[in-house]
Amino acid sequence: MALIISGLGVSRGIAIGNVHLLLRSAFEVYERSLEADEINTEVKRFKSAVDRAAKQLKKIQESIPEEAPKEIASFIESHLLMLKDSMLSKAPIEIIKEQYCNAEWALKIQRDKLVAVFEQMEDEYLQTRQNDIDHVINLIQKMLFDQQYEVAEEIKTLRGSIIVADDLTPADTVVLQNQNIAGFITELGGPLSHTAIIARSLGIPAIVGIQDARLLLKEEEQIIIDGSEGMVLAGVDDKTIREYKDKQKEEREARRRLESLRDVSAKTKDGVEISLQANIELSEDIKALKNSGAKGVGLYRTEFLYIDREEPATEAEQLTTYRKVIRALKGYPLTIRTLDLGAEKEFDPQYQGPLAQNPALGLRGLRRSLKDTELFKLQLRAILRASVTGPVRVMFPMLTSYEELMIALTVFDQAKRELKEEDKEYDADIDVGAMIEVPAAALAANRFAKQLDFLSIGTNDLIQYTLAIDRIDEAVNYLYDPLHPAVLKLIQLTLQAGNKANIPVSMCGEMAGDPRYTRLLLGMGLREFSAHPTTVLEVKAIVNASSIKELEPQCKRILSAATRPDKIHSLVDSLNNGA
Ligand code: PEP
Ligand code: MG
Repeated sequence: MALIISGLGVSRGIAIGNVHLLLRSAFEVYERSLEADEINTEVKRFKSAVDRAAKQLKKIQESIPEEAPKEIASFIESHLLMLKDSMLSKAPIEIIKEQYCNAEWALKIQRDKLVAVFEQMEDEYLQTRQNDIDHVINLIQKMLFDQQYEVAEEIKTLRGSIIVADDLTPADTVVLQNQNIAGFITELGGPLSHTAIIARSLGIPAIVGIQDARLLLKEEEQIIIDGSEGMVLAGVDDKTIREYKDKQKEEREARRRLESLRDVSAKTKDGVEISLQANIELSEDIKALKNSGAKGVGLYRTEFLYIDREEPATEAEQLTTYRKVIRALKGYPLTIRTLDLGAEKEFDPQYQGPLAQNPALGLRGLRRSLKDTELFKLQLRAILRASVTGPVRVMFPMLTSYEELMIALTVFDQAKRELKEEDKEYDADIDVGAMIEVPAAALAANRFAKQLDFLSIGTNDLIQYTLAIDRIDEAVNYLYDPLHPAVLKLIQLTLQAGNKANIPVSMCGEMAGDPRYTRLLLGMGLREFSAHPTTVLEVKAIVNASSIKELEPQCKRILSAATRPDKIHSLVDSLNNGA
């Protein structure tokens, strides 16, 4: 009899394959009381387990293939950091000493304490990181039980299988990722879990959050997973298998059609060239650009040079990093955004003051840079010095007032003057632009456009600030609407300001990479898009199938006639369906 199970589809696509259950032994941890003279030995036993856990992770880290998604390496790195952190490496020792208990029990007490803290957190991403704590603690427990890492031996039999597990650790995925797994199903995890992130970057269909999946599904039985629908089908007849095989074929062909556009230029049917670039966050992301179909980087977020580290990167380190990216781009342009700390981005570890009540409205982006102009100048100097290596533009985030812009440009001039005095080379004609992400900036875009070489619309924040919706607060997620008339009006004003001043306007928020909005944006006059590398080809396919001449009058009607959001949605649907 057919069994249909629903879960959360976190990576698109259809997989048909045989189940392979990862049945790992759960640890039953018991309390054992120790005598005073046993404490030292127990502490040593715990320390040795932590050391061996670190060695295992390092071994796995070294075996990560070059072409593996970068997320895998960074997850394992974060597990290694957690192992070193005193909350895991020292706190259990204190518990052993205070409570005279065995290491396993001390670790369990510490785990329960940490999980309780995580459960209080409202942030979904941080809640997900509770899994990491469990992964790392389980690894230490395994070492205390003298076990080794378990997945590896089964490697050869896994090709084409659908892995069904309670949860997958990053280390599991290193072991699994080269085995041509057809899909993943896990009992735990949400859209931001490791399984989800890694499955998406490997392009493997995955469904998470199916409780009891390992009880419901049998080893070796043939199943279908539909990652787009979040559905697992078991015990199905041949007819259903054939239907899904056809569906799978169609999806693969659609993917191939998209991939064939990789080296094709982005040009509408009526001959208008469109610039499609990519957003990156780390210098290593540049690798993802190769197959993305993007011609350049329209947004290089540079926060990683400042967060999760002891000291901000020096001018020399920044210069080396920027040069590496510029060289990898082989002549395609790079837009470097200056530091945008604050809001949802992690706090500066050096920051000692009180935390802002409303960080998104606090000292972030350009405001923050202008509070420490020496640090700001250091980044500008590095960008300027890198500009002789290849085409570079500099971009300020979260511009709000004209005065801010004037101060930022003054600091930029100072940086240039200093370099000149030091006989250091830079491109004197480097373009300077700013992000339009605050409604005030969109409304005043005319004034900014006169002082700048380009504008770039950051819709993620523009929507957040225009609609007063915290972009990371799930409770108001449903109100986050790129097609809200007010948002469209501000985009239109920015495009008009750019036109009037004869400077380019690009868009680098998520909206630019969402194919549902491509035709509308083209019709409104947007000619430069910068999006996540995985979405560029979909946008290109739409660009190349559209005609600006046909879109313009329809978009004009949408903007002028529709004041009701639901009306705009249905008009945009019709626009996309060619009606
Ligand atoms: C934006 O706000 O649209 C944007 C691209 O910047 P970030 O997502 O980094 O805030
Ligand atoms: Mg932003």
